[in-house]
Amino acid sequence: MVTCGGSRTSLSLRFAYHSDHFRSTMSDSIVLFGPPGAGKGTQASRISSLTGKPQVSTGDMLRAAVASGSELGSEAKGYMEAGLLVPDEVIIGLISERLQEPDAVSGLLLDGYPRTIAQAEALAEVEGVSAVISIEVPDEAVVERIVGRRMDPETGMIYHIRFNPPPTEISARVVQRKDDTEDTVRNRLSAYYEQTAPLADWYEQRGVLVRIDGNRSIEEVGSAIEVVIASLGD
Ligand code: ADP
Ligand code: ADP
Repeated sequence: MVTCGGSRTSLSLRFAYHSDHFRSTMSDSIVLFGPPGAGKGTQASRISSLTGKPQVSTGDMLRAAVASGSELGSEAKGYMEAGLLVPDEVIIGLISERLQEPDAVSGLLLDGYPRTIAQAEALAEVEGVSAVISIEVPDEAVVERIVGRRMDPETGMIYHIRFNPPPTEISARVVQRKDDTEDTVRNRLSAYYEQTAPLADWYEQRGVLVRIDGNRSIEEVGSAIEVVIASLGD
């Protein structure tokens, strides 16, 4: 296991080279992992600028598909609103196509993918993964973060009514996601524990899991992630 806890000053990254898909190279993808509301999207832009890897959020891709009224969107909508995972076959195809695009040649920063072992296996067939950064946050903090989350529809910036309030000039236009209610978040947490959390062990066995204590300020979590990113080049 690789740990990067708040109180630790030294970080020891041990990457086990089980297969070509788990060897740490600069062109591999990085996965942001964690429960809904852990802070994956919030941290993604910083990691993307540090690594040059484009951020790809399956949640954002699915919401765009729902908004466009595409066939994919109509298939995904009901699952998303109920707080359930969209079926693997739908999402695996979406990411495989994204990986064919020219800017994916140096790897992607995957935010919210994979979320099942079947998705991780499908990803390993087509793409190397150098690190899986697991942002760990207790359930009650998840609920508070999700219910207070707001998004600026013009820039896509993520805010929180208490922890990261939007500037006054945009506070009138921020929106709340339809699935960011207390009821739906409980379903999303159940889906996380049943289908997604087992993936942490799966990646740990492959030597690429890095645990980050996400129950700290946005800045502190960001600094801990920077240490991990810096050590990937070693
Ligand atoms: P995810 O992408 O994992 O679902 P987000 O990045 O959208 O999570 O964050 C969920 C909510 O929690 C947002 O409102 C965000 O502003 C807030 N948030 C993110 N990180 C922290 C943190 N470290 N402390 C407090 N609030 C946070
Ligand atoms: P969060 O991280 O806050 O839970 P996302 O924006 O990543 O939210 O995902 C929103 C919804 O989109 C999920 O609840 C799920 O229905 C669907 N979704 C996103 N990514 C995946 C995935 N990899 N597999 C299956 N469903 C997904």
